[in-house]
Amino acid sequence: MTTKRDMLSPRPRAGQIPRSVPKGKFIWHNHVAHRVGMGHGVNGFRYRNGLLPVDYRKFERCHCGVIDLPHYKIRGIGSGKCVPASQIFPGLDLDDVA
Ligand SMILES: [Zn+2]
Ligand SMILES: [Zn+2]
Repeated sequence: MTTKRDMLSPRPRAGQIPRSVPKGKFIWHNHVAHRVGMGHGVNGFRYRNGLLPVDYRKFERCHCGVIDLPHYKIRGIGSGKCVPASQIFPGLDLDDVA
């Protein structure tokens, strides 16, 4: 069933970055290398929503700075750091591409 709230807080679409944390959920992202502010789906990088409460056996707070919102990543996987765009797209100047 689709509630009005679901319609007001859609999942991130390709190229978008989350603008708010959905009520009752938390944001996490996969371990694919990404730069600050990178959009959903770019180069395999994805934002996901998890249901609260956060399962800390599975997730940990991420302070990488990709978005200004509190978010999480899979515990023990990935560097927890954003990388320069040049490291993701070698030889390309894609700073204007989300
Ligand atoms: Zn992060
Ligand atoms: Zn990051």
